Amino acid sequence: MSARPRITSLSSRHVPLASPREQLALLDRYARFEPELTPAHLDVFQINLGKLCNMTCRHCHVDAGPDRTDAMMSRATVEACLRALDQTDAGTVDLTGGAPELHPDFRYVVESVSARGKHVIDRCNLSVLLLPRNEGLAAWLGERGVEIVASLPHYRQRSTDAQRGDGAFDKSIEALRLLNSVGYGKGDPRKMLSLVNPAGAFLAPKQSDVEGEWKAALERDFGITFDRLLALNNMPISRFLEWLVDSGNLDDYMQRLISGFNPEAVAGLMCRNTISISWDGRLFDCDFNQMLDLDAEPEMTIENFDFARWQERRVVTRPHCFGCTAGAGSSCGGSTT
Ligand code: SF4
Ligand code: SF4
Repeated sequence: MSARPRITSLSSRHVPLASPREQLALLDRYARFEPELTPAHLDVFQINLGKLCNMTCRHCHVDAGPDRTDAMMSRATVEACLRALDQTDAGTVDLTGGAPELHPDFRYVVESVSARGKHVIDRCNLSVLLLPRNEGLAAWLGERGVEIVASLPHYRQRSTDAQRGDGAFDKSIEALRLLNSVGYGKGDPRKMLSLVNPAGAFLAPKQSDVEGEWKAALERDFGITFDRLLALNNMPISRFLEWLVDSGNLDDYMQRLISGFNPEAVAGLMCRNTISISWDGRLFDCDFNQMLDLDAEPEMTIENFDFARWQERRVVTRPHCFGCTAGAGSSCGGSTT
């Protein structure tokens, strides 16, 4: 079998869809997302440290990759995040990217938020743990009680490599074994290992329906254990949007999301209880709005963050929001129903 062509970021190819405005022009041809979303208690402080990643997955909604050194959070913005965090009683700090572990201040951020008694989530692509520069990182995270939320498109090699590139599955398995060897994924609440499986151009199954199947398959085939499965719908933005356009699947996928609207998914949407901070300190309702440049409060950044004002905003919605409300619902924490 011949190797698949290498995937590169939209940004490096200078294609029109690298622009959030172009992406929104495509999405706005579909039905308006009607529900008005209001903030609930702020539980999650999500910091996107930047777009640098050691991988270049086909369905990446961040347009991350090894070339994205242009988008990295500065130390001054990291400090502003910590000051803003102290205005809130959010219990969880969710570190994402790119690959957040590639940021030079990653360990500093983990130490700083752990010292504040926050629960820390590391959104990890698994293979990053195998890089020589990250030797010992898995154990270091475990010692600090950091939850690992690791993306793995499927427990079968073919489906995973199709999304993440040839060889990605084998590296994922090696990294999962490493995490198990330092105590992750064995029911210890201080070493939680969750797997996220972004679907293809179809609705994610309800996670409780498939978690058992995943656990049995990974244990049987590789002796790997993990704590929980988070099933996500793929968002029709960035490189997944490009794939939908190129493969002629965009209309079908959008209609599937729109007709799959589930009113019960609305209450648990992450934009209601999360603040999403971009590498350059802008504020968003969620990571998806961040990638579409849909600022929540254009006048406010992390530098002049005002918690009371943040809680009074209206969530910015567009047709991609149907990706969160279709079927069982979909958020960074998996199904919302
Ligand atoms: S999907 Fe995750 S691992 Fe893949 S390129 Fe994007 S940020 Fe990196
Ligand atoms: S994309 Fe999802 S999480 Fe973000 S604003 Fe829309 S419904 Fe909320």
